[in-house]
Amino acid sequence: PVLRVALMGLGGYAQRVAEAMQSCKRAKITGLISGTPSKLKEWGDKYKVPETSRYNYDNFDKIKDNPEIDAVYVITPNALHHDQVIRVAAAGKHAICEKPLAISAKEGQEMVDACAKANVKLLIGYRMRFEPNTLEVVRLRETGEMGKIKFFQGQTGFVAGDPSQWRLNKALAGGGSMMDIGIYAINGARYMIGEDPIWVSAQETKTDPVKFKEGVDETIQFEMGFPSGAVASCLSSYNINHLDRFFLSGDKGFAEMWPSTGYGPIKGRTHKGDIGKPHTIHQTTQMDAMASIILDGTKPHLPVDGIVGVQDLKIIEAIYASCKTGKRQTLDLG
Ligand code: NAD
Repeated sequence: PVLRVALMGLGGYAQRVAEAMQSCKRAKITGLISGTPSKLKEWGDKYKVPETSRYNYDNFDKIKDNPEIDAVYVITPNALHHDQVIRVAAAGKHAICEKPLAISAKEGQEMVDACAKANVKLLIGYRMRFEPNTLEVVRLRETGEMGKIKFFQGQTGFVAGDPSQWRLNKALAGGGSMMDIGIYAINGARYMIGEDPIWVSAQETKTDPVKFKEGVDETIQFEMGFPSGAVASCLSSYNINHLDRFFLSGDKGFAEMWPSTGYGPIKGRTHKGDIGKPHTIHQTTQMDAMASIILDGTKPHLPVDGIVGVQDLKIIEAIYASCKTGKRQTLDLG
């Protein structure tokens, strides 16, 4: 069977997902949710979604009566994910939600609970967790190829353009670079090292307080400590370009990914040479894999269930607390 997906929020990233889904074997677009009638018509015509499966933000609860929709992929500004996913669950549909899962760990947990209660799946759009070069590095680390892992470095960032975009609006974004791009370094540290952090410390630099208002972080440097003694040193920025690099160091070898999280191709090499897995379109691979998780109960090698997103939000909150207090924060991700 094929996973029949309604896309919610027809913006820039949804466009990329929609195009990528044209190459999916297991997933297809069967519904659209948007506040803009002209987009519903344009996208509906293009992706052959009938008018009866086009909804707006006021009436999308009616998907509950639509047998052509199995899941909704929420691709709206961060602060909206919480209420939208809870409504999707209440309609009895599976939810796929973009990162960050929500704008707080508390809201994220409420989403996890709502989906559990409704007996639907909640998956987070962490596309790197399906990317072949990334998975190969993870596999090599798991075989012991790199020995005992001691250090991870993650650099993620770009210069955020238009100052009026929702990404620079705390109410819609929940924060700044950390919520949007720093989250890749956090998430990457966890799958590259293969452990969850037990402490963080962080420092913020703000050079442009007009563009990056109170609560919207421009650049944050942070460190994380892991149970084995491994440490991570990361940088998240909305004001530095070309930051897309992971480095993992063990006592017998290393892995480097550069680019590490961009849309691709992802390039990886270890102390032994290039990884060189062929490029796949991330969102195509992700949606086929998610169809298999939802329809067949397949367990992905790197989990993408909602709880992973809640844990990343707990880490982000601790990073923000450390920036404020100047103190190291201990973490218990449960
Ligand atoms: P975007 O601004 O291009 O699109 C957002 C869409 O939401 C627009 O169509 C907008 O009309 C709609 N929207 C609905 N209600 C809105 C409201 N109240 N205010 C503003 N817009 C509203 O943003 P995007 O880049 O598509 O990001 C959407 C989500 O996808 C975010 O959560 C983002 O973090 C995530 N994202 C993920 C990736 C990835 O690689 N996984 C990449 C880009 C974006």
